[in-house]
Amino acid sequence: MKIREIHVYAHDLLVKKGPYVISSSTVWALDTTLVRIVAEDGTEGWGETCPVGPTYAEAHAAGARAALIQMAPGLIGADLWPVALHRRMDGLLNGHNYAKAAIDIAAHDLIGKRLGVRVCDLMGGGAVQDVPTYYSMGVGDPDEVARIAGERVAEGYTRLQVKLGNRPVETDIEALRKVWEVIRGTGARLAADGNRAWNTRDVIRISRECPEIPFVFEQPCNSIEELATVRPLVRHGIYMDENGVSLDTAITAAGTRLVDGFGMKVTRIGGLHPMRAFRDICAARNLPHTSDDAWGGDVIAAACAHLGATVRPNLNEGAWIAAPYIDGHYDRANGIVIRGGTIRLPDGPGLGVVPDKDMFGDPVASF
Ligand SMILES: [Mg+2]
Repeated sequence: MKIREIHVYAHDLLVKKGPYVISSSTVWALDTTLVRIVAEDGTEGWGETCPVGPTYAEAHAAGARAALIQMAPGLIGADLWPVALHRRMDGLLNGHNYAKAAIDIAAHDLIGKRLGVRVCDLMGGGAVQDVPTYYSMGVGDPDEVARIAGERVAEGYTRLQVKLGNRPVETDIEALRKVWEVIRGTGARLAADGNRAWNTRDVIRISRECPEIPFVFEQPCNSIEELATVRPLVRHGIYMDENGVSLDTAITAAGTRLVDGFGMKVTRIGGLHPMRAFRDICAARNLPHTSDDAWGGDVIAAACAHLGATVRPNLNEGAWIAAPYIDGHYDRANGIVIRGGTIRLPDGPGLGVVPDKDMFGDPVASF
């Protein structure tokens, strides 16, 4: 199976009831990039990558498209199987995992559609049909965030993430306490996501002032060095998110017990192929993790859901997708939705979604 054509599309996803606020970004719309790969026999596969604005990670939408355009001519005629494909991409461009991920996802979709196999089965199988997800509450007024937390738990979510940081630490502590008042006793788990915003002093203070709240810190500080500093000084578990920029970094963090788990993103680590290895490394070290992406529509949501379906249940912290924050679907019949706090895995082959390409207009580049 070889690549005959690559088409790159740009598409704006509006944030429903925006903006979406995290410590590093305030976003009203997301500029997503889609890739359509056509194989020699005409079978098509779709990939997607969508950084949440230009300041969340070392990634941005125009950068994704530039990297894809840099690689695409050298990928025509390339083998679609993931080991061969990643070697070819790495030979064409150093780094830029988030762009390579769009090609990787499209290749998995195409192989699945060609073979009549779901992507979750290409990932090793053992998939559940109802994939755990979690609800992420943007930085906001503590009472309002607590109100939303109560609603989401009532809907069926079993895990919540509250975004914090970039404001007085007292307000973050108040938000954690108010959310916990609402969800205590429901069985719901809680992550306190600083998105790199806190310094080590604030992390130690939050932990010591909230000993009764069993949250985990998610990427509380900016650097691996800061995580190592707070690690022995806090009462709460620590998950790595933004610092987990590659499989290499994740292996070191898991192997040295720097963290208790991960928020991991399919595009940050380079696609479904490295994500599969990451999942298995976490299983070997008994480390919980998510199977998220930053943002994006039905294509990236389907990729996260298929991978998330295969995570060992007692380590599965859920697949976060942007569906609750955006209107509409690329595939009107089989778009990815959350019901009762879980994502129903689509039945069809590949990713199980087939985008309506007319939604995206002309490609920004075709090869
Ligand atoms: Mg996070």
